[in-house]
Amino acid sequence: MAHELPKLPYGFDALEPHIDAKTMEIHHGKHHGAYVTNLNAALDKHPELHKKGLEDLLRDLKSVPDDIRGAVRNNGGGHLNHSMFWTIMKKGGGGEPKGDLANAINGAFGSFATFKEKLTTAGMTRFGSGWAWLIVGGDGKLAVTSTPNQDNPTMAGVAEVAGKPVMGVDVWEHAYYLKYQNLRKNYLDAWWNTLNWDEIAARYAKLKK
Ligand code: MN
Repeated sequence: MAHELPKLPYGFDALEPHIDAKTMEIHHGKHHGAYVTNLNAALDKHPELHKKGLEDLLRDLKSVPDDIRGAVRNNGGGHLNHSMFWTIMKKGGGGEPKGDLANAINGAFGSFATFKEKLTTAGMTRFGSGWAWLIVGGDGKLAVTSTPNQDNPTMAGVAEVAGKPVMGVDVWEHAYYLKYQNLRKNYLDAWWNTLNWDEIAARYAKLKK
């Protein structure tokens, strides 16, 4: 089974004015699309790996054959990261989480405001291209981390702090440059207004099990 580009769960313009329609169209169709195409092309060289789940492949990259390990890391990571990213945003999003997730955030960071500042700072200080993440760490606690390129915090030995991603934000220039140019901070500030906290809370509940 070849990997497929998931449909965006909303229109390209749904996140306006925070993220513009043109950026969404290119980001989803061209960037994410290319990760899927290139991942499939790599796996075609070892067709038995098409049967393995993407998360399993990435968690244990050293079991992936040498000749495609880099391609699977970059394009498989890109596919997994973006598949998450689209679902944690929605039209009319933003605000703050409720319930279990809100309690866990308060417990780990003291307040939602402190968490927001930490994740934003992780995105700002990621040099070059990458992602900033809220993860459930090995100790079961929430933590903020970041990864370069299309690495994912579940990749063993890659993330500074390994864990399972609850949510993440893409800080590649392709995610914001058309609207925000070099102003990554303005993009990150706007991104908080797109968040789908119901989906993020559901991801957290699943990871905690
Ligand atoms: Mn991206």
